[in-house]
Amino acid sequence: MKIRILIVDDDLGIGDSMRQFIEMAGYESFAVQNAEDALAFLSHSRIQIVITDIMLPGINGLELTDLIKKEHDTDVIVMTGYSEDYSYEEAINKGASDFVFKPVRYEELLLRLKRVINERQLSKERIHMLKRLQKLAITDALTKLYNSRHFHTQIELEVDRSNRYGHPLSLLLLDIDHFKEYNDTYGHLEGNKVLQKIGSVIRTCLRKMDSAYRYGGEEFTIILPETSGEEAEVVAQRIRGAIETEEFKPLDNKPVPVTVSIGVTQYCPNEEVFKFIQRSDKAMYTSKENGRNKVSCLFVENASF
Ligand code: GH3
Ligand code: MG
Ligand code: MG
Repeated sequence: MKIRILIVDDDLGIGDSMRQFIEMAGYESFAVQNAEDALAFLSHSRIQIVITDIMLPGINGLELTDLIKKEHDTDVIVMTGYSEDYSYEEAINKGASDFVFKPVRYEELLLRLKRVINERQLSKERIHMLKRLQKLAITDALTKLYNSRHFHTQIELEVDRSNRYGHPLSLLLLDIDHFKEYNDTYGHLEGNKVLQKIGSVIRTCLRKMDSAYRYGGEEFTIILPETSGEEAEVVAQRIRGAIETEEFKPLDNKPVPVTVSIGVTQYCPNEEVFKFIQRSDKAMYTSKENGRNKVSCLFVENASF
């Protein structure tokens, strides 16, 4: 995609010849004669770099730089005459990426332009990489659900929010039934496929606000904000049913049933987080004791706000 550059200079001659030079250097460029037109242009067009004179009728180039940096993801190069009283520091403090003196030597402008474009690219790549790393740090590699570290962060946040606003909050804890046997019979790799598939089944059963985590080896948690225990039980039943009907085929054709046991709890005001989690674990064990492939609830009297 071509870099798009906007030149702001009240001198039509300068604007035009600079535009031609920049076009020849291989960039797309536009010229306007004042800051107001520049802002209007930016509001409807994607521009990566603005080159602006400081002395302009109306809003001056430094104020323009300030406004651009507040509203847009655009770099600004400021131009000024030697005799004018504006300093390099002033321009940089307003957020300008570089500064050139007038009359502008085009070769110098081109060098500065290339440097700004280069830094812009590098900073975009850095941001992109940082986002990827942040995502990796909270994602479970096998299932692509969130990992348990993120679970602990999020459950604390949701519990705080629930206490602050008095909104209901529920938690599901799932454990795969007889998973050791599955691994022993079909191998660890086939076991991993089950974990992956259960991860994607869970994802399809969630509502927008819900979030799912691989809590341990073959255990999953799901946080359901703004959700009562009764509503959470419905979600749990939907997940349990979806997993029960999913076909797992560790040997080419014959499907092998896989089921999960689920515990459901609603947060009880001012309860400690570990107790809340412990209750969902207890509820899950009740499902195991009652024959597995079950949903059990462990609600506390007066759980609601
Ligand atoms: P229950 O119904 O009581 O939960 O029985 P279970 O066999 O599922 O329970 P147990 O806790 O004895 O076994 C859990 C098994 O989960 C043992 C372990 O090999 C398996 N497991 C844990 N993490 C992974 C993993 O990442 N990949 C695979 N393939 N298996 C895993
Ligand atoms: Mg387990
Ligand atoms: Mg298990």
